[in-house]
Amino acid sequence: MTMKLCTQCGHTTEGKHKGSFAITLILLIVFFPAALIYDHTRQKAGKSICTKCNKESLIPLDSPVAKKFLEQTNT
Ligand SMILES: [Zn+2]
Repeated sequence: MTMKLCTQCGHTTEGKHKGSFAITLILLIVFFPAALIYDHTRQKAGKSICTKCNKESLIPLDSPVAKKFLEQTNT
């Protein structure tokens, strides 16, 4: 996973996938194939959220927008 920047709070994080890992676990116990499908779709959705503010405002750290953002906040 690559590091991303949250444009909401300025936090740099790898982000986390939306959805619950607990649901994956429950499905894993109750119905194994469903767990695989759920986990797959959860990760395929691709939307990582900030681990600090839980907003979907993560952008790649090496993007021009992120660099500009960091320049502004680091001064
Ligand atoms: Zn954030």
